[in-house]
Amino acid sequence: MSPSAFAPAKVNLYLHVGPLGPDRYHPIESWMVFADVGDEVSLSPGGAYGLALAGPYAGEVPAGPDNLVLRARDAAMAEMTRASVQRFGLRLEKNLPVASGLGGGSSDAAATLRLMGEYLGLPATKLADLARSLGSDVPACVMARSLIARGRGEQISPGFESPPMHAVLVNPGRAVSTAAVFGLFDQGRHEPLGEGLAARTLSSLDDVLGVLAATRNDLEAPALRIEPAIGEVLAALRASPAVRLARMSGSGATCFGLCENPQAAEGLAASLERDHPGWWVKVCTLS
Ligand code: ATP
Repeated sequence: MSPSAFAPAKVNLYLHVGPLGPDRYHPIESWMVFADVGDEVSLSPGGAYGLALAGPYAGEVPAGPDNLVLRARDAAMAEMTRASVQRFGLRLEKNLPVASGLGGGSSDAAATLRLMGEYLGLPATKLADLARSLGSDVPACVMARSLIARGRGEQISPGFESPPMHAVLVNPGRAVSTAAVFGLFDQGRHEPLGEGLAARTLSSLDDVLGVLAATRNDLEAPALRIEPAIGEVLAALRASPAVRLARMSGSGATCFGLCENPQAAEGLAASLERDHPGWWVKVCTLS
């Protein structure tokens, strides 16, 4: 059987962004959680040394060495002598929309590192180094559990503990360039990030909403100006009595609606799918 690793969608419940620093990076603070929807990476021992693509978004990711699955494979293989490794192939089932604020590429890289770590017997410390080298969000995706990310996103600490959240993810089917969103963000004036929130245990959705009420996604306004369809998604979510909070994730365009229970989320998803057949709509739990 081919070993496989799940690559969950990442959701930024809040995302605070500071002004561009002298290192040309924006400092961030974000509470990240992970969904039970995502991509799947699998490894077939003895298979052709390449990447097979499948799934609804297979046509929208690079098929060659730029694919983050192959970048993660190559980073791991650089630790080995090629001849010492039994031949293997990789397969990516691409279920998450691309350039959508769900961190799909980073999560694919993280899932590949997990698989390669097991296949090649690489120690966790080495995998952590490789994750950092592949992108700011990759270490968070290796953890794939509630966490607070700071710095460029690579400084990770445990996130708020809460019961799993019932949510609907909605993408209007438009890719949004992260660089373009930050470009527009930079045209505004921004305060440096303060000390930030200290994570604690939350016992209910009301507690979660209490924390989120004092937070925001600073990229929502610039992303909305670049892609007005984000406004339509947020308006549709906010118009529903099932939604307790609607917000954009990452640099968009995917938005999430937090719901009281799975039934409310299912009902909301059914009505959004009926009214907006072109949108990508997924019920999920976040934790
Ligand atoms: P983030 O929330 O981290 O900004 P995102 O969801 O907006 O991420 P991704 O879907 O990760 O963006 O894609 C970012 C870019 O990475 C795309 O332009 C895509 O071509 C490239 N890429 C390379 N490999 C992959 C992959 N396996 N899956 C998705 N994108 C990939």
